[in-house]
Amino acid sequence: MADNKTIEMQDVLRKQRSAHTQMRPEPMDLRKDRIKRAMRLLTEHSEDLCKVMSADFGNRSPHQSMITDIAGTVNFGKYCLKKMDGWSKPSKRSVQFPLGLLGAKAEVRYEPKGVVGILSPWNFPVNLTFGPLMQIFAAGNRAMIKPSEFTEKTSLLMEELVEEYFTPDECAVFTGGPEVAAAFSELPFDHLVFTGSTATGRKVMEAASKNLVPVTLELGGKSPVFMGESADFAKAGERVALGKMMNAGQICLAPDYLYVPESKQDEAIHGVWQGTANMYPTMLENEDYASLVSDRHFDRLQDMVADARDKGAEVIEVNPGNEDFGSSNARKMPLTILKGVTDDMKAMQEEIFGPVLPVKTYSRIEEAIDYVNENDRPLGLYYFGEDSDERKQVLSKTISGGVTVNDVIFHVSMEDLPFGGVGPSGMGSYHGVEGFREFSHARSVYTQPKIDVAKLGGFKPPYGAATEKAVKTMMK
Ligand code: NAD
Repeated sequence: MADNKTIEMQDVLRKQRSAHTQMRPEPMDLRKDRIKRAMRLLTEHSEDLCKVMSADFGNRSPHQSMITDIAGTVNFGKYCLKKMDGWSKPSKRSVQFPLGLLGAKAEVRYEPKGVVGILSPWNFPVNLTFGPLMQIFAAGNRAMIKPSEFTEKTSLLMEELVEEYFTPDECAVFTGGPEVAAAFSELPFDHLVFTGSTATGRKVMEAASKNLVPVTLELGGKSPVFMGESADFAKAGERVALGKMMNAGQICLAPDYLYVPESKQDEAIHGVWQGTANMYPTMLENEDYASLVSDRHFDRLQDMVADARDKGAEVIEVNPGNEDFGSSNARKMPLTILKGVTDDMKAMQEEIFGPVLPVKTYSRIEEAIDYVNENDRPLGLYYFGEDSDERKQVLSKTISGGVTVNDVIFHVSMEDLPFGGVGPSGMGSYHGVEGFREFSHARSVYTQPKIDVAKLGGFKPPYGAATEKAVKTMMK
């Protein structure tokens, strides 16, 4: 089965690359038209897309889907349309003295790479497919997409809609399971963007390395929240609750665990409890609160909580409506705070990716900094507090993909900031001018003046006085 698909994918890649090569250079208007079509696809089918996402999850609020997957992505398309003329301007570079006086010129041109592959996950299935696509188009490329098998209905609808709005040599979607994904990651693309787990990211990079395909890896990790003594714990709790409970915690940038001053632990937990209760007084029948995407994912989180309990953590369920989650099959789980966690617990070893929130305490902020530095570099890092020296210390002594101060997650929604991880949380980025450059080839173009520069500079045999003079000048 995967074999036929592989042949089909190889064929489409050949056709896309050939069309791209023949039509180079494509006018900016065509790039813009592709972005506009992608925006139209999302706008004209927003309701259907929200419906299938909800069906795939079990329940997912159409309001949330409109914000996170539809409007957020359309807005990103608008941003690309506004910025791309500026992004694509060649950048003039200096040449060594006195070449400029002699008429030499140097510039970098940002040119399309060709065909870019997109492998996307299930948690924001539309956003994480069409978001990269907007910038891939802005940079003048064509695209092949393999969306997640976990949100199958959404993937099938995206396949159908892309067929309607694009020719197969501009953009094509391939659906299927992990075998199709693995075959996809082996294709000799001009660039490959993968969004998903660190474990799969390793496989993707290994597969891409066979053809030396450059990769952008948007991965996950354990994004910590530092709460300083000076934090407003009620406000911080509310903001953490919003970031943790949206999409039921199934967000790559979700606050993974809290690090709070020992003396403020209860206040911090109360803040999160109250913030959650304010937004979700009930959860089981509440359409605003998402289900966990699969039974496997649900069981993994239940097991994580049981493991923490067995190893001595105090388990606090935030269940303001006193609902009976145990007898429901809605795959909904209340926010579960773990107090007194230790490093041997699964909750402190794996990315959580759901509504479970471990809380660690420190007596000095340096302990929290050291802990974060001893573990994998996270995708996001959050600091709450008004102490600017402490904030500087936390930011300058740690490394993470990005940072939000006095809130969580928000840096990703700033379209002009590059978004990406570092080390095990990813490599490369998109959004901002950096994303345009990620999907472009920075081509250096140097124009030599008429005069014989090599002879003038003493680089041309027979070597002699001019050579010695040039060496001396360079080493001075
Ligand atoms: P996943 O790694 O299981 O799957 C992602 C994609 O990889 C899917 O399309 C899947 O079909 C494909 N895939 C599966 N096996 C493959 C293989 N052997 N070779 C190539 N591709 C393969 O991730 P997921 O469960 O869908 O998503 C959750 C993870 O994604 C979390 O770790 C989360 O942090 C991360 N994530 C990161 C970002 C980001 O922007 N950094 C955003 C969302 C999710």
